[in-house]
Amino acid sequence: MTTFRWRPEARAGHARAGWLDTAHGSVPTPTFMPVGTVGTVKAMTMDSVRSTGAGIVLGNTYHLMLRPGAERVRALGGLHRFMDWPGPILTDSGGFQVMSLGPLRKLDQDGVTFRSHIDGSKHRLTPERSTDIQYALDATISMCFDECPALPAAPDVIAKSMRMSMRWAERCRTAFVQRPGYAQYGIIQGGTEPELRAESVKALTGIGFEGYAIGGLAVGEGQELMFSTLESTVPLIPDASPRYLMGVGTPDDLLGAVERGVDMFDCVMPTRAGRTARAYTERGTLNLRNARHATDSRPISPHCDCLACSRHSRAYLHHLFRANEILGPMLLTWHNLAYYQRLMRGMRAAIVDGAFTAHADHLRAQWAMDDWSGDEMPFPDIPPVA
Ligand SMILES: [Zn+2]
Repeated sequence: MTTFRWRPEARAGHARAGWLDTAHGSVPTPTFMPVGTVGTVKAMTMDSVRSTGAGIVLGNTYHLMLRPGAERVRALGGLHRFMDWPGPILTDSGGFQVMSLGPLRKLDQDGVTFRSHIDGSKHRLTPERSTDIQYALDATISMCFDECPALPAAPDVIAKSMRMSMRWAERCRTAFVQRPGYAQYGIIQGGTEPELRAESVKALTGIGFEGYAIGGLAVGEGQELMFSTLESTVPLIPDASPRYLMGVGTPDDLLGAVERGVDMFDCVMPTRAGRTARAYTERGTLNLRNARHATDSRPISPHCDCLACSRHSRAYLHHLFRANEILGPMLLTWHNLAYYQRLMRGMRAAIVDGAFTAHADHLRAQWAMDDWSGDEMPFPDIPPVA
């Protein structure tokens, strides 16, 4: 039986390469988790997700509890079987989505009552209920149910919210059913106040979780504050525990956070961007709706082995988006996820090879060019169909 743990392989400063061992397989870290909101990574088949090299995906408790319902997923063999992802799955607690409902939700010391965005029906989430739902879904990694105030907020508001989340974390831990290879992560809150973050880490490590997430960042505070918060917070987390930065981010955010010791990420950016004609590349982003791509026979990236890049031109992608064809979002989501996975693999390999600093410099220099227009770029021809 597999014990859930993070195993270090190599280090470069604060950056770490390792393995996350779980009941559903081992995942190399640092890792990026594609977001599979309602049991699907939007516009992707699970085979296409696998082909990008993704090792772990994320599911959303809020969405799945409303539709099709956690008990139905459980009756159908759990989320792994239901969505055809035998690998590890991390589920969020539903907290973030529920808190985002604004006037549709009512918060008290015990939990949150809210109305479904689908049909207006009334529901309630508590630390215990959220933990039970994640168990029913068979999440490999469950997250604590917590509250995160919208920023900017006064320090006393952030402190009060963080302390309530810490009380909830204790209740989540009590409700969590421990099984070999499964994990529950505590979520560090406290805004951008180092003392509050430290208090939160102390409370959570006192309870004891298999991993720790940094929540409440990338909510509008800016990259500089996010990085300084990571610098003060991450070193307080036990070295043997996996660290997960929730909801982050751009390729540049990922690099900066890996440099500061983060192992796990999730973000809707690559998938959402893929549906809106925005491509991530080694040299910044491209908007494929832009007229300059209309006659461009080159692939999005010569370095990418995704289906979009290995078989199609920018001009074709441009045409698909202009014609509102569903294949456009499908191909570009695939490309963006392939890019994100390649980015993570590249960082990991550089840490292992002892070349991380040079690699980071190279990535930043390439992004800064942000220019694919030069004729000197060596683009290969599109290969003929075999
Ligand atoms: Zn591609």
